[in-house]
Amino acid sequence: MTTRAQAIIRRAHERRQRALSEHDSKRVIAAYGVPTTREVLVKTPAEAGSAARRLGYPVVLKVCSAGESHKTEKGLVAVGLAGERDLRAAFGRLKERAGAGYAGDFLVQEMIEGSRELMIGMVRDPQFGPLMMFGSGGVEVEGLKDVAFALAPLNQAEAEKMIRKTWAGRKLKGFRDIPPADEESVIDVLIKLSWLAMENENIREIEINPLSVLSKGVIAVDVRIKTVA
Ligand code: ADP
Ligand code: MG
Repeated sequence: MTTRAQAIIRRAHERRQRALSEHDSKRVIAAYGVPTTREVLVKTPAEAGSAARRLGYPVVLKVCSAGESHKTEKGLVAVGLAGERDLRAAFGRLKERAGAGYAGDFLVQEMIEGSRELMIGMVRDPQFGPLMMFGSGGVEVEGLKDVAFALAPLNQAEAEKMIRKTWAGRKLKGFRDIPPADEESVIDVLIKLSWLAMENENIREIEINPLSVLSKGVIAVDVRIKTVA
């Protein structure tokens, strides 16, 4: 697991990237068994088209470059693309917004529907080591301050306790008309991520936002990892 994660980080460092792209960040957490979106890196509209046919519509198209954050604010994400026409139009729009000279990657990925969104993260404290974060995801992160913190590594009981400290976590059990979601899988991601942080000291920050929670299973939809040399 560590070997695979470190190989991905090493190759990013060879390209002088300290902040990994969304796709590379996902490959790192996937090495620790965290489920991620099915997706394909492409450069051209034709490649995007064949990737989308393989994944199955609807798809999502994103600009995928190292260190890119706040993609939505910059207009670099197009969700709910229903067919090839939509996809080609979105490709043109995103390319324009990425800047005239953009020759980098685009990401075609499966569209995750009918989920709720959480955020799971890690920041490494110089004294205490990896500090895990859990809370509401999506656009609500900044507004709600519905976040809990705990030091890694986390065991089952500690991860569960952390989740219960937040409303986002408590409602996984279901509340009035909110149906229950797969809390077990969320706990599993927290534990795995805490071990990823323990075993890879050159990872400085991780943010999964959103982690989509389904009635069965979870999927990391957007991931950012920052490393040190
Ligand atoms: P950023 O956080 O950089 O703005 P994201 O990749 O998180 O970009 O995309 C922004 C939002 O778009 C997500 O919070 C999510 O709601 C939605 N989204 C992104 N990718 C997908 C996907 N594959 N399936 C469903 N929704 C998505
Ligand atoms: Mg995001």
